[in-house]
Formats: sequence, C-alpha cells, structure tokens
Amino acid sequence: MKKYVYMFSEGNGQMRELLGGKGANLAEMTGLGMPVPQGFTITTEACTRYYEDGKTIYPDIEEQIMEFLDRLEKMTGKALGNPDSPLLVSVRSGARASMPGMMDTILNLGMNDGVCEAVAKLTNNPRFARDSYRRFIQMFSDVVMELPKSSFEQFIDEVKDKKGVKHDNELDADDMAQLVEMFKAHYKKSLGEDFPQDPKKQLMESIRAVFRSWDNPRANTYRRMNDIPHSWGTAVNVQSMVFGNMGETSGTGVAFTRNPATGEKKLYGEFLMNAQGEDVVAGIRTPQPISTLQDIMPEVYEQFVDISSRLEQHYGDMQDMEFTIENGKLYMLQTRNGKRTAQAALKVAVDLVDEGLCTREQAIMKVEPKQLDALLHPTFVRAALDAATPVTTGLPASPGAACGKVYFTAQDAVQAHKVGEKVVLVRQETSPEDIDGMASAEGVMTARGGMTSHAAVVARGMGTCCVAGCNEIRVSEADKTITIGDTVIREGEYISLDGSTGNVYLGQIATQEAELTGDFGRFMGWADEIRTLHVRTNGDTPRDATQARKFGAEGIGLCRTEHMFFETDRIKAVREMIVSETTEQRKKALAKILPMQRGDFEAIYRAMGGLPVTIRLLDPPLHEFLPQEEADIRELAADMGLTYEKLEDVVHDLHEFNPMLGTRGCRLAILYPEIAEMQTEAIISAAINVWKQDGLKITPEIMVPLVSDIKELRFVKKRIKSVADRLIEEAGINMKYMVGTMIETPRAAVTAGEIAEEAEFFSFGTNDLTQMTYGFSRDDIGKILERYFEEKILESDPFARLDQDGVGKLVKMAVDAGRETRPSIKLGICGEHGGDLSSVEFCHNVGLNYVSCSPFRVPIARLAAAQAAVKNPR
Ligand code: PEP
Ligand code: MG
Repeated sequence: MKKYVYMFSEGNGQMRELLGGKGANLAEMTGLGMPVPQGFTITTEACTRYYEDGKTIYPDIEEQIMEFLDRLEKMTGKALGNPDSPLLVSVRSGARASMPGMMDTILNLGMNDGVCEAVAKLTNNPRFARDSYRRFIQMFSDVVMELPKSSFEQFIDEVKDKKGVKHDNELDADDMAQLVEMFKAHYKKSLGEDFPQDPKKQLMESIRAVFRSWDNPRANTYRRMNDIPHSWGTAVNVQSMVFGNMGETSGTGVAFTRNPATGEKKLYGEFLMNAQGEDVVAGIRTPQPISTLQDIMPEVYEQFVDISSRLEQHYGDMQDMEFTIENGKLYMLQTRNGKRTAQAALKVAVDLVDEGLCTREQAIMKVEPKQLDALLHPTFVRAALDAATPVTTGLPASPGAACGKVYFTAQDAVQAHKVGEKVVLVRQETSPEDIDGMASAEGVMTARGGMTSHAAVVARGMGTCCVAGCNEIRVSEADKTITIGDTVIREGEYISLDGSTGNVYLGQIATQEAELTGDFGRFMGWADEIRTLHVRTNGDTPRDATQARKFGAEGIGLCRTEHMFFETDRIKAVREMIVSETTEQRKKALAKILPMQRGDFEAIYRAMGGLPVTIRLLDPPLHEFLPQEEADIRELAADMGLTYEKLEDVVHDLHEFNPMLGTRGCRLAILYPEIAEMQTEAIISAAINVWKQDGLKITPEIMVPLVSDIKELRFVKKRIKSVADRLIEEAGINMKYMVGTMIETPRAAVTAGEIAEEAEFFSFGTNDLTQMTYGFSRDDIGKILERYFEEKILESDPFARLDQDGVGKLVKMAVDAGRETRPSIKLGICGEHGGDLSSVEFCHNVGLNYVSCSPFRVPIARLAAAQAAVKNPR
C-alpha cells in the first residue's frame, strides 16, 4: 500500500513536494541532530486523495495515521489520552510553498477533562494545564467546528472584569478552571454536543480540518496571488507538544537569521516568556527583542545562536525560525527561508554571494521578481517628510510610502479601491480574513502586533507598506475613527505612512521616484548576465520610453499609435478624417495628423537612443474616436460645421455588434490604405530625421495588427513599402526597416508558417489571442471570473497569466512554423503576459527573443527571465 505518513526521522529537506515545506524542514533538522520535538507528517498526496475521495479520509490512510501515532507514542513513552503519561500534540498544515497564516493550526491536542487534571498534577502547575485546555477548546472549535475563536473572548473578559484585572496572565488556576467550564458550555450550547473527549477523534477531526482549510477562501486568494496550484495540496504535521507556557523558565519566539526588513546580518526576532506561539504571532502581548534572551537565559541563547547560524549555512539562505523553551530546554519547531522585504531580499542575496554562501545563479533565485515592484515605486520627498511631524509612530513593518484615505474594514477598503480611491487600511490587528482588503490598500496600519504579526508578515510578502503596533492609537471600527490623544481621524480622511521608519502623518505627503542603484544595480546586473531573453517595453510616449529605459528596457516592443490620436490637439483632425466622404478629404485630414505623429516618433526614437522600436499601425475601430451620446454628437456636429443628421449617420454606420471582432487592425488599413500610408510616412520620416540630426541609426519596425491571413499582410505591406522605399531613397541614406505582424488571431497562429513568408517579425498579441482562443471578452471576463475560481474551472485569470495548455500551444506552434519558414525571424510577445512571471518563463522555454511589458514591470521581467534561464539553460 502507498505510504502516506512519514516519521520526521524518515524524511529530509529534499522531500518538499511530498512532505510540504514545514515537514521537509522538520525532517531535515531532525537529521542534523537538532532538538526537534518528534512527530510525523501526513503527505500532500493524502490531501490530494482527500479531495479525490469526496472530502473524506479513507480507512487505509487512517490506519497508517494510527500506526504512526503508535510509533510516536512508543518513541516518546507517552500516549494520547493516557492520564499517567499524556501525549499532547500540535496539528499544523504545511504546503509545498509557504503560505504564512493562510491555513489552520491546532495546539494542545489530546487535552480532555482527565488529561487536564493529570497534566496539572504531573507538572504541579494546574494553571498551565487548564490554560492549555481552554486554548485547545478555543482552537478546535474555531478550526474544526467553525465556531469562531472570538466568540470565546467575552468569557475571558467576563472573568477578568469580575476579578478586576486587566491581563490574561493575572488569571490564576481557579480562574482558568472556570474558563474551561464556560468554554465547554459555550461549545455545547452553540454546537448541540459535548466537547469531544476522545483524543483520537480529536486528532482525525483536526487532520480533516487542515485538509479542508486548503480550500478556504483566504488560502484560495493567497494561492491565486502567488501562482500556487490548487492541485499541490497541503501536508499535515503532527508533532509532540513542548510548552512555552509552563512558567517563567519557559517561553516561545520567532527569529530570523537576518533582519527581514533591511537584510542586515544580525539575528532578529522576538519572544515572550511563559506563552504559547499564538501569543507572539497574534500580537496580543508585546514581545521582547531576541537579544534580551541573552540576559534571561544565556545558555539557551548561545545554543539558539549556534543553531541559527548552522541552519543559515546549511540552507544557504536567511532562515525564519520558531522555537520554544520548555523548563529551560530549547526546542526548534520550524525553520524556513524567511519572507523578507524587497530591499532585504536584495541585500541578503548580494551579501550571501559576497560571503561565499551561494553563487550568483543561486542568489538570483532568492528574490521573488514581483517583490521588485516595491522598490520601483515612489518614496516620500525628503523635504516634505522633514517638514512633517508624525502624529504617532509604530513598528516599521514593511517599507515604502503610502498615502491614502483611511478605511477600517477589509470590505470598505476593497470597495473604496474599486472606485479608484487610494486606501490605507487601519485595523486593531489584521487576521487572514483581511487579505483582500490588504491587497487593495496602499498601506496597512495596525494598533497591535509586532514585526512578525500577521499584518507585518503578509504586507511584506505583498510588498505593501505597513506600520504595525501603533500602541498610542485607539481604533474604533464601530465609530470608524482613530483617536490619538486629542486628535481624531475619521473614515475617508488622508493619512501617510512611512513603512521604513514606522512614522504616521496626517494628510498627504509628496512622494518621489525610487533609487535604482546599489544592491539593486548589482543584482540586476547579474540577472542581465544570466538571462538570454531580451526585455522590451510597451510604451506610447517619450515619458514611458524614458521611464522604461531607466528600468532597463532594451527597446520598445509595442507602441500603440491610437493613444496619440486621442490627444486634444489632434482628435479634431482624426474626426475629420473619419467623417470624410472621399479619399481626397481623408488625405487632407491625415495630412494634419502627419507632422504630429512624426514628432511623437522622433521623440520616442530619441528617448530610446537607438534601441529597437516597434510601432504598430492603427488598431481600434473608428467609432471609438466619435461620441455616442446624442448631446455629444450634437455638440461635435456644431463644432465641425456638420448637421446633426450627417454626423449621426456616420456614427450609426460605424456601429458594430462585436467591435472587438470588427473593423479594426489591418482591416482598417485595407479599407483606408491612406491611414497606413500616413503612419508609415510618419514612422520612416521621423527615423530619417533622427538618423540625420542625431546620428541614431535606427531600423524602424512597422507592425501590422490583427492579421489572420497572409493576403491581408501582403496587401498592407505593399502600401507600407511603396511609401517607405520612396522616402528612404529620397533621403539618400542606407536605412533599413522591417515589416512584421502581430500574431493575435488563432488563424494567424495556425498559418504562421505562411505568414512568415512576408513577416520579418512576429509579436504575439496574447490579449487578443486569449480572447479569441477562449471566446472570452477581455473587457467582461470579470463577471464570470469569481465563479470560475470558486468552481476551480480556472485557477488564474488567463488574461493575466498565459494559458499554456491552450493559448500557449498556439504560440508554440507559430514559433516553430515561423522559424521553419524564416530562421532569422524575430519573435516577441507584447500582450499583458509579457510581465507575468510564469508567462515569462514560458516565453523563455519556447524560445522567444524578447518579452515586452509595461515600464514598471521591466525589472520584474528581467529577473523572471534570468530565473527561467537558471532553471532551463539554453
Ligand atoms: C494584444 O492583443 O495582446 C495586444 C498587445 O494588442 P491590444 O492589447 O492593443 O489589442
Ligand atoms: Mg490586440
């Protein structure tokens, strides 16, 4: 029978896929002889089977679990439910990729009425025993029975109030006993049954709940945001408990081998004495910095420092570790490569290479390309910041500058973001339910919690600015206010957060562009040496071009000319062109546009300094340039000296039922060749001017959109050539130019071999290609996407992440056929996918020459291309 369960001592760090990250690392630490409380891991394959078997754990798997429980009991000399020597375990999820806080954890499993009193006697610490029991009831209810943890809080408050104390740790053993009874009663009242006393039942129910949690909404959102497939499943780790809440020689903490916010090489973390892990992460009590452990327990501290540095050396990366001290003895509960800010990620990667702990190729793999985004966005203008006085300060939990209107719930944040507002989400503390709100916010501020609290960890992962643990503020979700002394900030008012210092300011503070030197420059230099795929940008203006060059773009892969047509000084001429009744009239109108287009192209060529520039002929249907509402049509008609009826006729004639499949792309050039001729003249004459005036020897690339038949391309190319050849001859220079096409209809992809007879380059327009391959409207897919995600029909938006199985097959087919016909053909992609991680990897693998993406995604694509080259050298 297939093996679904492994003791920690049977696995190793290479077995991530099967054991999940946490399980593999616990096994690896066990193998390294580190003090790890022993246990076993139920594999990700068991989770996959749970779903295949209709959300049940089949008896064969349950039998294996029981067999391994037996082995654990023998190993520890304790047994679940045995009052003489009770075994207590934790049950935790652990997927292949780390998903911090996304799934559920249960501690102290094995507690029941008898065990609780037995533990009280054995430890001579009844308070501890009862505290552990009431925590277990709370967690089990929450995770397994979906009775919220928060519904128990009222009882804690009640007991504290009655006693007249403020903090949980002021409650004694009797108070805890009272709480246990109140919790059990609440359980029974809410769920109609007694709290389960059989520890094996508790265990199986908890394992089932962890499997189930793989499919909870926040885990699904997290996976979609991080490209983690649903099919991976999660492993479950069952580990014997050690207790940080046994008294003043016990404690628990979290630490990183380097500072996760800055990357500084210095042990960084926090701990709480007499507490369990959840207390640190939930931010309910404010923890102490790790360095103070040296004074409290010098030997334990030394041992921890030694283990940390061994782990970092062993993994060749910054580690994030959880530990517990039980009666003066140190235990390691977890290690993993630590989540870090973009700034820290770069510093750590560069330092690890300098310290000889990894190669440049390995370093390249340690930074998530999406994270670079956080470095590219503005920071506060120094002078503006200096002039401002913070109203309060919290922990600098995730760097960056955020300025936005205050909202108090995730839902309100999402709503405000949807209508285009910049949002700062303010919470007492965040929980995994807040993830959508956090994703919609420029910044997150919390009143409680440390550097490893949920808000801090998640915000860093997202690259969102976060100030956590602002102790001085009072947040009222009900009143929608923040109170700081006499100052009251209401919903919708602006605040500014500095995630690098933890300062919070009233109102808006000016921001400035990011610095791209230092570690960033060195690191990206390595990425450029390693990658083989070129990176261009989609840019329509000299401003885009300049920005993208700063970010390392090696050319323009798509210049959409229609955006230039909309500018106020030229829309009039464009409309004249559209309402023209004769070719002569149309040419006259086009002649007015020509010098403006030429000027645009000259400026773009200059901004790119001689790098390749692909300019696309006009693509959208002409009705987009005319008004549609009666009042607007009337106004324009008067403006143009036309009757309303005349203009309305034109608008009516241009109306189409499926404009996306209508008179657009090369079809425009075939109906009105003079448009393509004017644009060719602008493209070529601009290049000639720049060649002559600036000495920039350019080879313009003219791109024909929406081709589906080689004859379309032949028709348009002939017009282009007649204009271009004439102009170049007249100029008397040896300038070359290229004519290519977009591959954005399925027919073009299928007949790419023929099309390559005429096309000197292909650029895959995967926006339209996705639209036409699926038959999904690119503008309306939002309406069905959520449902498709829920039903797992789609795992990601195919307009954001290339569908490799369908659209990707067409791309591959066209690449192969195009190269077969014309081995020198240049191949690129200019759909939105050009800046998406997995899509860039796909483009590398199928052998494209370049990807083209929006300016801010250029560094991301450069790094993604380097990572693809490391994974799949060519
Ligand atoms: C495309 O279709 O992928 C493309 C880049 O063109 P547009 O988005 O302008 O239709
Ligand atoms: Mg297109």
